[in-house]
Amino acid sequence: MRKALNVRVRLAPSPTGTLHIGTARTALFNWLFACHEEGKFLIRIEDTDRERSKNEYTDNILQGLEWLGLTWDHPPVIQSTRIENHRSAIRFLLEKGLAYRCYATDEELEEMRTLQKSRGQAPRYDNRHRNLSPKQEQAFKGEGRSSVVRFKIDDESNISWNDLVRGHMTWNGVDLGGDMVLSRRAPNDEIGEPLYNLVVVVDDADMDITHVIRGEDHIANTAKQILLYKALGLNIPSFAHTPLILNSEGRKLSKRDGVTSISDFKSMGYTPKAMTNYMALLGWSPPDGMSETFSIKEAAQAFSFKRVNKAGAKFDWDKLNWLNAQILHSWTPKELLSAIQPLWEQEGWQIIDNDWGHALAELIGPSMTLLNDGVDQARPFFETPKIEKDAKKQLDNEGAILGIKTLLNQLEKTPWDGLNFEHAKELISKCSEICGVKKGIIMKSLRATLLGKMKGPDLMTTWGLLARVGKDTTRMARCI
Ligand code: GLU
Repeated sequence: MRKALNVRVRLAPSPTGTLHIGTARTALFNWLFACHEEGKFLIRIEDTDRERSKNEYTDNILQGLEWLGLTWDHPPVIQSTRIENHRSAIRFLLEKGLAYRCYATDEELEEMRTLQKSRGQAPRYDNRHRNLSPKQEQAFKGEGRSSVVRFKIDDESNISWNDLVRGHMTWNGVDLGGDMVLSRRAPNDEIGEPLYNLVVVVDDADMDITHVIRGEDHIANTAKQILLYKALGLNIPSFAHTPLILNSEGRKLSKRDGVTSISDFKSMGYTPKAMTNYMALLGWSPPDGMSETFSIKEAAQAFSFKRVNKAGAKFDWDKLNWLNAQILHSWTPKELLSAIQPLWEQEGWQIIDNDWGHALAELIGPSMTLLNDGVDQARPFFETPKIEKDAKKQLDNEGAILGIKTLLNQLEKTPWDGLNFEHAKELISKCSEICGVKKGIIMKSLRATLLGKMKGPDLMTTWGLLARVGKDTTRMARCI
């Protein structure tokens, strides 16, 4: 059954950097809400800052969203293609007398701010050109001054909205910094590059956005944007301001905190499912009785803004790692292999067949936290490991080398293909009888020769895998 309202939400990333985890989390909350409401999730690339916007960042953002499974419903809207719509909205506001040209120079504005500072006042534009006479305007133009367009913000106005996360919100016009610049400086009576608050309102309205879901750092913008919606005679959407992601010190997570971009998490070996699961928990709590590990589909079913916190959410690596491990451990050997094999291939490692690959994936899977752990842990199955200190010590034990020599002799007589484990166990028992060295010593020494260290996965499976590629006997032989 369709819901009553056709929900349309959007993510509006600026392609001035790679997909940041904060933006990805905003995308996720938009996606979850859209999916819950059977609505549409749209993307708008806000590339109006021509200098800082790059196509490679747009690609990175879209690829990151796709990797996370946050697919969108229509081709992304490219904001820069809509500049004429933005300009005509500005013209409309100028014609209605709701906006005006301000000719103040940068020096004059700087002077104004210095004075405000010296008086201990908050910096704000003092609306000095709000009521210029045509004569004054002519005089400024005559001086060759360029102008920005400013939107009138009534100091007495009171803006309020019912935020889906934060409840009743209210802002006073006087706290919005004076009349707002809508477009950058331009000579004569041209309209310069339209700016964020104006373009967002025009685009959100044209895209029929019903709910604007974004980070709480946009709250003051929302107050300004509501004034613009009203002035332009547009429907005001609902707003939901999601909590910020904080670092361990409780400050907004930034690039300085190290890994923050989704492509970095990907290359470190986090799975998209762990990322979306973890990001959902950064601010949202699942209803009582729902497991903490879930797919985005499951989260979407249960999602509501009622369970999104107002307080910032601290980024917790341990929790993310735990989730990633849970997911890897739940995979079948086949799933695990298809995820790790490309990483092995990057190392130049080939598997002999799928059975061998599955068995290796199954062997190392339980000790993996990150997908990339599957490279380090599989290394001794492709490359001959060094003999480390603890392994050397083991091989120095009385009977160790004798045990390995005996095993090698036996293997020459009755080779092992790595498949029948009973045969291998019998071989070890037989060697122990022949040379009088305890089985335990033979097995520990075998581990030392095969892996070059004493810790590692199940010995018989390890040996079997190496035997199948003919690497067991050469490793034993190099130690005697
Ligand atoms: N381009 C803005 C940003 O990346 C979009 C904010 C919004 O959602 O309105 O912060």
